Amino acid sequence: MCRHLAYAGPPASLRSLLVDPPHSLYRQAWAPRRQRHGTVNADGFGIGWYAAGDPVPARYRQGGPMWADLSLPDLARVTRSGTVLAAVRSATPGTAAGAEAAAPFGCGPWLFSHNGVAPGWREWADPALVPSLEALVDSALLWALALRRLRAGAAMDAALAGTIADAEAASPAGRYNLLLTDGRSIAATACGDTLWYRRSPGAVTVASEPDDDGPGWTEVPDRHLLTAAPGHVRVRPLAGRSRAPSPGPPPGRAPGAGSDVSTEGIFTS
Ligand code: GLN
Repeated sequence: MCRHLAYAGPPASLRSLLVDPPHSLYRQAWAPRRQRHGTVNADGFGIGWYAAGDPVPARYRQGGPMWADLSLPDLARVTRSGTVLAAVRSATPGTAAGAEAAAPFGCGPWLFSHNGVAPGWREWADPALVPSLEALVDSALLWALALRRLRAGAAMDAALAGTIADAEAASPAGRYNLLLTDGRSIAATACGDTLWYRRSPGAVTVASEPDDDGPGWTEVPDRHLLTAAPGHVRVRPLAGRSRAPSPGPPPGRAPGAGSDVSTEGIFTS
């Protein structure tokens, strides 16, 4: 239902990343091309980005459509960053409206977004967690679950895989395309909706859908986990819903250690 995008690479203007491409996130707010659920993303948007020398990103969020923010293209023209995470929202019925319900959610160095739905989340959410949510929306609950794992020391990819395992235990019919960055690298899941990536020299873009028809875009298969850093992408299957966890992830190249794309075996949290 939503569309989201993360970029890591040489500093670029928010406008060049989010507004100018022919099928940019800005345009995807009213004309997404590959969205599996929903047709318009007019229920809010958000942009998170990192300034040089500051590990805590800025977030700019609004509760209305991206195209209705008349100041945004101009602000985006003069704001540059080497790591960006942004989203446009099509609200799941029954969830909160407003800027605080729009991704990216964040805490400390992390930014997070969710494209999908966690059916019945109000029934299965830990009641102790609900008052701490920034907004009454399933995505904020998923962020709280991921943050709990990150604060306990989990790597970003393990935090996302574990969050999906938690959510699917309660809501197996949910859709969980998650996107996370710490300002240096990106972790993402394809789990119910579309996900693509594009590497370019020293940079990587991970997005719900391509923002142009140029070469270099690769689709991530469903139920896969992606980790990316500038120039490097790794794609692995997510553990199946009913598969018992194995002792640990398979041996493989550490994220960021190479410059090519690797596709490896089953990943478990
Ligand atoms: N369920 C989330 C929300 O309501 C995400 C919806 C979506 O992917 N469109 O914001």
